Amino acid sequence: VLHNRLQELKGNIRVFCKIRPLLENEMEEPANIEIDRKLITIHKPDKANSFRFDRVFGPQVTIDELFGEISQLVQSALDGYKVCIFAYGQTGSGKTYTMEGPKDFMGISQGKGIIQKSVEQLFQSSEKLKLLGWNFNFQVSIIEIYNEQILDLLENSKKMTAFSVSMINPVYIDIYSYEDLYPLLTKARKQRSEAQTSCNAHSSRSHCLFQLKINGRKGIEEINGTLNLIDLAGSEKLKNSNAEGDRLEETKNINRSLSALRDVIQALVEKRGYIPFRNSKLTTILQNSLGGDGKTLMFVNISPLAINLQETIYSLLFAQKVN
Ligand code: ADP
Ligand code: MG
Repeated sequence: VLHNRLQELKGNIRVFCKIRPLLENEMEEPANIEIDRKLITIHKPDKANSFRFDRVFGPQVTIDELFGEISQLVQSALDGYKVCIFAYGQTGSGKTYTMEGPKDFMGISQGKGIIQKSVEQLFQSSEKLKLLGWNFNFQVSIIEIYNEQILDLLENSKKMTAFSVSMINPVYIDIYSYEDLYPLLTKARKQRSEAQTSCNAHSSRSHCLFQLKINGRKGIEEINGTLNLIDLAGSEKLKNSNAEGDRLEETKNINRSLSALRDVIQALVEKRGYIPFRNSKLTTILQNSLGGDGKTLMFVNISPLAINLQETIYSLLFAQKVN
């Protein structure tokens, strides 16, 4: 018990690092990166830099192994906790793969990611709790935050509604089984790719928030848990030297929301009195899940390529600030 208490005091924020494998068609040089259970070392000709995390996963890790390390955290949403799992990293580092699983070239799912594994496990566990007299209601919303505008990816109208944060009111869809998840994921993907046509880099510049609300009742007992799975916008430094107008505004907004997230997490880690939630749409939406007794895990995804080394180091530095 004492040990658990100490763990709690250590804070509810953990950071895992994950390096994706080299892809079959990738011809670029790999970087010299050494991986240990909790340590990652970047070797350059002149020096080596090490970064320590709660866990480091090598390129061969499977989604199942990964999920094994977070299944307890996911499970706590069923006990009424507010859980946030972020995928952070530059574009192409494996964020979406981690969250949504492998896909074919058409974007059709070829296996489970953290989203599917989480919902599957929560339904399985809720079945067991039903035998003890509990009743559960699961609801899903999927939204995208692009350029500080919120788009509801489960909204029916073809034109997605953008609403202000003071009236955040996304559609919540009841799901009654794990299988009900798939049509929602398909719909969100379709809505997202429609938005993409207006700007090619849309998906790498937007945050995608999958939210599962869980309400459990047994007599007068009631629990309300939330699982937030967030595929963040690419963290790469945007070349904004000649950006103008809308594009410049967009560039500022992407960097702003990621630094707002870092500031919030840092303030929480340091247990400061004032937490700057209101500095971005993302942190405003997640306010209830990030503060208080919320539990947060950040996956820092990195690329194995030498050409990405500078961004890799920026990502590791960012992650170390929140750890
Ligand atoms: P991001 O969302 O960070 O931009 P993606 O998840 O789209 O990156 O990954 C970039 C590419 O790498 C995709 O083609 C993806 O399928 C592939 N990829 C990422 N992680 C793995 C992995 N563990 N195994 C195989 N392919 C992967
Ligand atoms: Mg992606």
